[in-house]
Amino acid sequence: MEVPLAIDQVGRALDYTVADRDVELNGCVEVTVGVRPYAALVTAVHGELTGEGDVGKLKPVRRVLSGALPTALVTLAQFVADYYQVPFGMAAGLITPADAAPAPDPTGWALTSGGRAHVAGIPPHHRAQRALADLFTLRNSDAIDVAATDELSATQRRLLRDWQQAGWLAPVFAQPQPTLVLPQLPEFTPAQRDAADALRARSSAFSVSLLHGVTGSGKTEVYLDTVASVLNAGKQALLLVPEINLTPQLIDRVLKALPGVATAVLHSKLAAGERNRAWHRVHSGEARLIIGTRLAVFAPAANLGLIVIDEEHDGSYKQNESPRYHARDVAIVRAKQADIPVVLASATPSLETWRNVRYAAAQGARGDAYQYIALRERATAAAPSSLRLVPARGRRVKAGLSETLADGIAARLKRGEQSLVLVNRRGFAPALYCPHCGWSAPCKRCDAKMTLHQTTRSLRCHHCGAQSGVPSKCPACGHPELVGAGVGTQKLEAALIEAFPDARVARADTDSLSGKHAWRELYERILAREVDIVVGTQMLAKGHDFPALTLVGVVDADRALFSTDFRAQEDLFALLTQVAGRAGRHALPGEVMIQTEFPDHPVFHALLAGDYEGFAEQTLASREAIGLPPATRMALVRAESKDAQAVADFFTQAHAVLREALGDEGEVFAPQPAPLARKADFTRWSMTAVAVKVRPLAEALLTLRQAMQAAKPKVRWAVDVDPYDFG
Ligand code: ADP
Ligand code: ZN
Ligand code: ZN
Repeated sequence: MEVPLAIDQVGRALDYTVADRDVELNGCVEVTVGVRPYAALVTAVHGELTGEGDVGKLKPVRRVLSGALPTALVTLAQFVADYYQVPFGMAAGLITPADAAPAPDPTGWALTSGGRAHVAGIPPHHRAQRALADLFTLRNSDAIDVAATDELSATQRRLLRDWQQAGWLAPVFAQPQPTLVLPQLPEFTPAQRDAADALRARSSAFSVSLLHGVTGSGKTEVYLDTVASVLNAGKQALLLVPEINLTPQLIDRVLKALPGVATAVLHSKLAAGERNRAWHRVHSGEARLIIGTRLAVFAPAANLGLIVIDEEHDGSYKQNESPRYHARDVAIVRAKQADIPVVLASATPSLETWRNVRYAAAQGARGDAYQYIALRERATAAAPSSLRLVPARGRRVKAGLSETLADGIAARLKRGEQSLVLVNRRGFAPALYCPHCGWSAPCKRCDAKMTLHQTTRSLRCHHCGAQSGVPSKCPACGHPELVGAGVGTQKLEAALIEAFPDARVARADTDSLSGKHAWRELYERILAREVDIVVGTQMLAKGHDFPALTLVGVVDADRALFSTDFRAQEDLFALLTQVAGRAGRHALPGEVMIQTEFPDHPVFHALLAGDYEGFAEQTLASREAIGLPPATRMALVRAESKDAQAVADFFTQAHAVLREALGDEGEVFAPQPAPLARKADFTRWSMTAVAVKVRPLAEALLTLRQAMQAAKPKVRWAVDVDPYDFG
């Protein structure tokens, strides 16, 4: 038997023995590599071996974790390995249950085919074994309830565990009655009705529908209608949401709309046991609706009928560590294999999706699968928030807070309404500097500035985590006062408390909300109107709904305008659109104030006009002109080492190999230091390549991986296909 794991760049399978184990091809087992247990996928099962030579040295499989996965899921893992340039074993890790997690609690146990064969062969004098076997066979069902195991003797219980681990027993989960789902949805607007009809019309075969609707247009209701129809056809449905949106409120909302549906929730923050249980409920078919973050795209549903991706443009669908897959793109591949529809919902679709869907006609037969559905109006009477650009530099600017914004907040306080001030950074201030000589505190291990944290009076490097105290005077010139530059959430919080001493101010960022329940508590406090002003980062911009929140101020939008990341403006447009959707969703009208020094920037023009389409077309045209995604396919090669020369040597060779392999099909750019060129003593460089077509790029990258594996460079390196993060 072979069990693949991510052993090296190209990957190879490992062999184990399976004496007394009933393993299935494409099933999951627990094995050890070194001393660590792993969940692994069975990719081949060989017959009897002689027990001579190397076979004797093989380790045994520790236990059987599951029966065969749907073949399509294994094919999907193979796609991830090929497309994202990772060893198959690493991709296989995406489809197996959580690493060697404890077995879930089933409602009963049933004999597998191997189990039946075993039971038939138990000699009569093996009393304990026979007694246990009789429990199954006497009932003539091949299955017993967990309740029945309470009456077993200690010996029988041990046997039961042995049989489970041998794969002779498979867990049985409650099968819900196939009840009809009666969706509880509001009466649709004509636009929603048309959209829902268009989705239903495409619900029986592969298709990709972009549900493009302004915030508040009722997209959720529309796709839940399709979910209900798929569930009623006896299929499973998968709903993917961004990490930040997977809140108890969202789950409540879905369950209210689809009462009585057996639902499994899958995300990375679940404890291993919980996640494993959800995994098995999906695998067994008990769970009909699967709601989850990006990893749920690999849920082992054998009977999938629909995939919905909410906020499809969201950056959290791309995994930032190997395997660096993009869940939206993987979902489309999965849907194509299974011949089922995908619905992509967004107010600000990614340019990748926009290009695919809007130019489908130009793509021949492949384009037939795409459809574009627009919801141009809000579903409720609530007026859209008004957007205003306000000058960042005013008369009374304090900690990045302009006079106009301060006046807006004061007006809300008087009316008993809430305000949200949004920043895009952590910490008290991004850097500490000397106003006399310009010295600023660097991290000794990175090329980054240290961030000043006021509560602990410390300097922290947000890249490597290094900490130090705050110097009492400038180390360079001796000037007695050092100041914090820029705006951070803590500094804003302090300024707001000073400006509005009677207001209740709360801060929401990853520092203040590190506890597991902290966010939930703050959420409740905002809803209960125990907070007047909230200062926070992006996490507040998305997916939350506060009725009394009528003002959103954005204080550092300008950074994105001049970012070196080519997607920064696209992200800013999406963020600000989403923020605008936060205010005034209910009866009270909302207002969004964006502080900027560049009010004439085209991004703001499009944003004020609510012209996503114009923005998308213009941005797409400029990407086409300079050959950036989605007009081209991009791959990034990263390498890092404490030995700078090793990094240089790696790229000298890698650049030559990739260039040769790609030939005329694309372009390989010169290696560059990463934006953060030194991180925790590591020297980090990267190199990008672009090509118009997918296949030549994939083949060239494979050649590169094989060549560099053979060269055994002394660096850590990896390929990132369709990169989003250039740090
Ligand atoms: P989107 O996801 O497009 O931003 P939502 O689906 O969140 O919009 O809908 C916005 C709000 O409007 C929600 O509170 C939702 O319950 C409500 N809503 C949606 N459709 C209708 C409708 N047809 N009638 C009344 N309220 C609706
Ligand atoms: Zn100085
Ligand atoms: Zn550092």
